[in-house]
Amino acid sequence: MRLTGGCFCGAVCYEISGELRDARSCHCSRCRKAFSSQASAYALVNSGEFKWLTGENLLTTYLGKHGFGLQFCSKCGSTLCGVFESTIHGVTLGCVDGDPHIEIGWHIFVGSKASWEVLPDGITTYEEAPPAR
Ligand SMILES: [Zn+2]
Ligand SMILES: [Zn+2]
Repeated sequence: MRLTGGCFCGAVCYEISGELRDARSCHCSRCRKAFSSQASAYALVNSGEFKWLTGENLLTTYLGKHGFGLQFCSKCGSTLCGVFESTIHGVTLGCVDGDPHIEIGWHIFVGSKASWEVLPDGITTYEEAPPAR
């Protein structure tokens, strides 16, 4: 399977030669800020299957606590991926092109969701983190 993704302005593009895993959406206040949205929409990738095609030099990295960071396009601001200790960890689903053949499996930290967010019926939610699997 080959997936591609890219930012809003099109300068940064990537390719994934495998499958996305563990798609999740986190509604905590930190993710709302980091993803400028009601929640994150994020899936894991195998780092060996991820490759930047164009614009890698335009990426800016914001490193948060515990070695986890986000990389975004310095031209348009799209957040493209998460990194852990400078290795690719996952991608934001909003920047994936087309149908990645995965759906968000769980919505986590809905106990601290924004007051203005209305959760749809039929989704799997956890008040905080999901139980260890
Ligand atoms: Zn861009
Ligand atoms: Zn979160």
